[in-house]
Amino acid sequence: NNHQSSLLVTGGAGFIGSNFIHHYLHKYPDSKLINLDKLTYAGSKNNLSEVQNLNNYQFIHGDIADEKLVNDLFSTYDIAGVIHFAAESHVDNSIEDAKAFITTNVQGTYTLLQAAKQAWEKNNQLAKRRFHQISTDEVYGSLGETGKFHEETPYNPRNPYSASKASANMLVKSFGYTYGMNVVISSSSNNYGPRQHAEKLIPTIIRKALSGQPIPIYGDGRNVRDWLYVEDHCRALDTIYHDGKTLETYNVGGGNEKTNIKLATEICEILDDLEPIIPTHISLKSYKDLITFTADRLGHDQRYAVDDTKLQETLGWKPTMTLSSGLRQTVEWYVAQWKQVIH
Ligand code: NAD
Repeated sequence: NNHQSSLLVTGGAGFIGSNFIHHYLHKYPDSKLINLDKLTYAGSKNNLSEVQNLNNYQFIHGDIADEKLVNDLFSTYDIAGVIHFAAESHVDNSIEDAKAFITTNVQGTYTLLQAAKQAWEKNNQLAKRRFHQISTDEVYGSLGETGKFHEETPYNPRNPYSASKASANMLVKSFGYTYGMNVVISSSSNNYGPRQHAEKLIPTIIRKALSGQPIPIYGDGRNVRDWLYVEDHCRALDTIYHDGKTLETYNVGGGNEKTNIKLATEICEILDDLEPIIPTHISLKSYKDLITFTADRLGHDQRYAVDDTKLQETLGWKPTMTLSSGLRQTVEWYVAQWKQVIH
């Protein structure tokens, strides 16, 4: 029914959004959730096969930058809050062509904010109903060998993707300061886990290894990323959405810094440990032999790491997954998917 108020999730057919929807509907089986997703190349309804038939889950196929559609949605349903994941999310694509990043990440965020503002102003809920913006540590720029990004670190985005996310965050904050909208922002480090699109680093390493092809690693492989297991991120988002203070930003980290080369090596070692799965005509001592360095990404940020003391100390969240067990589970998940594809 349209009268029970609903949480609106955008981009829920993508990697983090779909994991979040599973988390949320499992934890709050009586709540209603609407997923607005354009189903770009990055989104797939297969990511939601386990929830698609639930009565309290509804999928709406559409674009967050489509003003009419978004306004209609807010007038048809009683939207209790928004968790906004939808974005163009791949840095390499933004370097190729940034246009969709501006339309979706900037204009789409504005369209949602404006529709939410209009709807919530009407029933005097603007200061109560929450707009939660999902962001990335990439908005802070790049770090040297030491130090971490804090919530107060000035934004210094260095590629079109992170520039579009920083712009969106600033619009979100402006709606909080200017109109008194109840906004909150979370900025996380790199996520990994099930249902991530094949284009991203960890799925690429696994896919290339399993097909016996060179595993491409940018530059000298010494760029550092902090890895956060997606389910740990989803728990953090649940906490921040419900308990985070208005107009605050919360960083979410994994506490797992690794160079890309070390990460690729560890994934190859996990694959080596599993039963032989590559076609027999490829003779390899280890999947590590497939690792190949390629020309560096333009403007490649050297290192990201976030300080998430604020989230841990004020809201009591902690990551629970170690990188080695998270990577093992992740590799096993992709291997199972891959086996389904080849059989
Ligand atoms: P993803 O690319 O896997 O999924 C994005 C989803 O958004 C897809 O389902 C896509 O169809 C949908 N979408 C794209 N444009 C849309 C539009 N105009 N209207 C409606 N839906 C649209 O992304 P992800 O990795 O799950 O990231 C989700 C969010 O988290 C993004 O905002 C991203 O910036 C942020 N984030 C991601 C990471 C990470 O490591 N993946 C880290 C920090 C922050």
